[in-house]
Amino acid sequence: MKIICIGQNYKEHIKELNNKPTEDPVVFLKPDTAILLKKQPFFIPDFSNDVHHEIELIIKINKIGKHIQPQFAHKYYDEISVGIDFTARDVQKKLRDKGLPWECSKSFDGAAVIGKWISKEKIKDLNALSFSLKKNDKIVQQGNTADMLHSIDTIIAYISTYFTLKIGDIIFTGTPSGVSAVKTNDKLVGFLEEEELLNIKVK
Ligand code: MG
Repeated sequence: MKIICIGQNYKEHIKELNNKPTEDPVVFLKPDTAILLKKQPFFIPDFSNDVHHEIELIIKINKIGKHIQPQFAHKYYDEISVGIDFTARDVQKKLRDKGLPWECSKSFDGAAVIGKWISKEKIKDLNALSFSLKKNDKIVQQGNTADMLHSIDTIIAYISTYFTLKIGDIIFTGTPSGVSAVKTNDKLVGFLEEEELLNIKVK
């Protein structure tokens, strides 16, 4: 399986990182080795002093597809959750400044946290869905899919132009504002609406 991530999909997050909006979605990949194993803590890697949490709505592909039209995109996933796209911001900044790819800052071991999957049938409106992240019992990030610059269906259509989507692939749809560095002993809890779907410790 593969993990496909969308960057810069929320205006306020683009602002907080001093970036400019792009016309097309920003796409990068994480290998399956980036998935944080169940019940494991997240270990801050030695190569970074500035690893940020990015809470994101994630979806799981349930059907193989290529060149998917936006109007059919909803048929290609039936489970959603929240995930964390951990980002070594200091490493990313160095790479970005040189115009280099981001993988070392975002695709390292443990950098993809996957929450508990829930059926999309349970959701009233996928385009007005709130999600949030609590750090040490305080809400630090709050997002709503209504604020996405590129909708879920647009994202699926766009990435399937380049990559065949396969059953079990996961798409990270971008983070809202409020990203910040994690520290040893932080506790991160992710919610979709009011439901807790993810809970990890930082080491
Ligand atoms: Mg992200």
